[in-house]
Amino acid sequence: MKPSVVAIKQQEIFKFNAKAKSIPGVVNMTVGEPNFPTPEHIKKAAKDAIDDNETHYTVPEGIHELLHAVADYLHDKYDLNYDPETQIIASAGVTEGVFSAFNAILQDGDEVLIPSPSFTIYGPDADFNGAAPVYIDTSETDFKVTPEALKEAFRTNPRIKIFLLNFPSNPTGVSYTEDELRALADVLKQHDVFVISDEIYSELTYNFKHVSFGKILPEQTILLNGLSKSHAMTGWRFGIICGPAAVISQINKIHELATTSISSITQYAALEAYTNGYDDPISMRDQYKARRDVLHKGLNELGFDCPDPDGAFYLFAKIPDEYEQDDVKFANDLLEKEHLAILPGSFFGVGGKGHLRFSYAASMDNINTCVSKLGDFLKKPQKV
Ligand code: PLP
Repeated sequence: MKPSVVAIKQQEIFKFNAKAKSIPGVVNMTVGEPNFPTPEHIKKAAKDAIDDNETHYTVPEGIHELLHAVADYLHDKYDLNYDPETQIIASAGVTEGVFSAFNAILQDGDEVLIPSPSFTIYGPDADFNGAAPVYIDTSETDFKVTPEALKEAFRTNPRIKIFLLNFPSNPTGVSYTEDELRALADVLKQHDVFVISDEIYSELTYNFKHVSFGKILPEQTILLNGLSKSHAMTGWRFGIICGPAAVISQINKIHELATTSISSITQYAALEAYTNGYDDPISMRDQYKARRDVLHKGLNELGFDCPDPDGAFYLFAKIPDEYEQDDVKFANDLLEKEHLAILPGSFFGVGGKGHLRFSYAASMDNINTCVSKLGDFLKKPQKV
């Protein structure tokens, strides 16, 4: 078996979650998916698709009625201009999008530039596709990649073929303003590199409007998005891959080899979401924002230094200096003593050391209990 199969970071999270689940009554703040049901009208569209016998293979890229609806949605929401006939693929989530795009682009010995901390799949995806992940530690720059860091990375790593950008970010909740994106694009334009922009949390932004990298640098960007977070549809496995026609055609070949096509029923559900579900994310976003505010205030009062997250449903907090700085030990102690599950920041890479990732895709009750349990824990002697 490939050595990288054994070393996937995600497995640390699964192990930690399994330990948490084995504790009765645990308060779980680790969850990376919406705790809302899929909207009724979308579920109905899927049931109708079954009743209408829309239950067969489709063309690999997805039914064209759906791809047209996706193009309209992206235009209306983000002012993007993708040709539905040649520039969009319906994938099995962003997860498949990352893998298929890496597989189509990368050759052995290439490099993939990834901000750290970041979502856990990107490094192993690079590795499985014969490339070396190169990490930019963002912990000293408010968890953002700066143009200077980008320039330096290209100077020292000549085989970078992909720059992976994810905003709003898992695990930090940080996002980029249009000006910041333009400054990164100025550097990227000078290199023969694709930007794979994972914007799965684009509908969950709180402080400023989301601007897609597909708008900023369309000729070099492969945009990944989907319905998992915006429409509470993680289990349906729906994503989109959008970009320049030539590379999309190559990615579609990999996608076809891996999937033939994604589920026809999911595609009809997605067609309904992209046609009549423009406003579905609003009430969920409002509730996340209220929870974010309560958690942020509670953590600040306990002495945690954490930026006000711009989006997603995560809060990434530095463990106060006077406490145990080994975040894995801190999180395990907290789990064992207070039955409170929060993920250690270093599960998301070196840039996450000394931090904790709180998910506020949790009930308000759990958020309040989390703050009080954490307060109790900090009162107990635990300094190394
Ligand atoms: N990208 C990021 C940044 C995520 O946090 C997640 C899930 O947590 C995914 C992608 C997975 O998305 P999908 O369900 O579309 O595969």
